[in-house]
Amino acid sequence: MTEEETHFDARVLELVRKGDEEKVSLLKNLNKKILPSQLVRIQKNDKTVLSELFLPKWVKWSLLQSWASKYKLAGKGNECVLCSEKNELGIDFNNNFICENCFVRLKNLK
Ligand SMILES: [Zn+2]
Repeated sequence: MTEEETHFDARVLELVRKGDEEKVSLLKNLNKKILPSQLVRIQKNDKTVLSELFLPKWVKWSLLQSWASKYKLAGKGNECVLCSEKNELGIDFNNNFICENCFVRLKNLK
């Protein structure tokens, strides 16, 4: 594992040790705030996505990139485990592809 990949986890651990629960919960819930299409832009180093995310200033770009690097983007034409539709955009969670539409639906349930 490279330093870049562990950066996010290290930051979470540091905040847990400090007892900063608010920041810890924000970082742990990033996947509920950021859409797969926005995740792609973070991975591509497209900083214009920041203006859509409304994240607090302490969430640095390098931290976001480190977080995004934990997600593997699924290739084209994957079948979603939830709706069984083939979709280009989505996220791979533990080898289960979830399309962007279902992702948004799940996000709104919580
Ligand atoms: Zn779906």
